[in-house]
Amino acid sequence: SIEVKGVTKRFGDFVALEDVNVSIPTGQLTALLGPSGGGKSTLLRVIAGLESADSGTIEIEGVDATRLAPQKRNVGFVFQHYAAFKHMTVAKNVAFGLEIRKKPKEEIRDRVHELLKLVHLDQFAHRLPSQLSGGQRQRMALARALAVEPSVLLLDEPFGALDAKVRKELRDWLRRLHDEVHVTTVFVTHDQEEALEVSDEIVVINNGRVEQVGTPDQLYDEPANDFVMSFLGEVT
Ligand code: ATP
Ligand code: MG
Repeated sequence: SIEVKGVTKRFGDFVALEDVNVSIPTGQLTALLGPSGGGKSTLLRVIAGLESADSGTIEIEGVDATRLAPQKRNVGFVFQHYAAFKHMTVAKNVAFGLEIRKKPKEEIRDRVHELLKLVHLDQFAHRLPSQLSGGQRQRMALARALAVEPSVLLLDEPFGALDAKVRKELRDWLRRLHDEVHVTTVFVTHDQEEALEVSDEIVVINNGRVEQVGTPDQLYDEPANDFVMSFLGEVT
């Protein structure tokens, strides 16, 4: 699990996260849901180690990660605008993390093949990222993040820049992928429907505070307060 305990994060005088406590269970797909500026990306970045908290601790699968560098946390991440290596093929992009870890060549070849099949890009292995659609590029990014077998996958609005139809396809596809791979996944979105449809559990964040944690059914049936009730009811 990921245990976030008493995390506070300030940017100057501005409090972006205020005493955040949340427990994200192993193997689940958990959404961080909330309005723009609520602190979702900041919390994800603190979990990844890309930002350090002013106080509080982060534990990942039983290890105190609070002072560990991002590359030591065994997390994979994908952002909205994913930066791929433009001059490398899709297969090379996916292989990159394994190559810098000096894995044996055959192992890399097999693993890349397996991953490209998993994200349905096996036919595109030799293309360049510029020759893929936006949705295909985000699937490549996911394969790349999964390549090094992270214990945790952190996704910050990975489909945010795509049109509604592709977004919905990828959302369904992410759910199926997760049912196959079961890696602990934290997924940031400001889209209520997206969170309600794909996730096992939802953490609602607003103004740097956790408003509620629950399954989609729990949030829907018993919203903890007026904020959660009106936010879930909003149409985007
Ligand atoms: P969105 O849905 O728009 O991505 P978010 O929930 O991800 O929003 P954050 O990016 O976590 O929100 O930002 C939370 C608050 O912290 C915002 O008010 C933002 O302006 C502020 N903030 C984030 N990063 C910084 C920074 N590096 N310096 C100063 N303020 C920051
Ligand atoms: Mg954000």
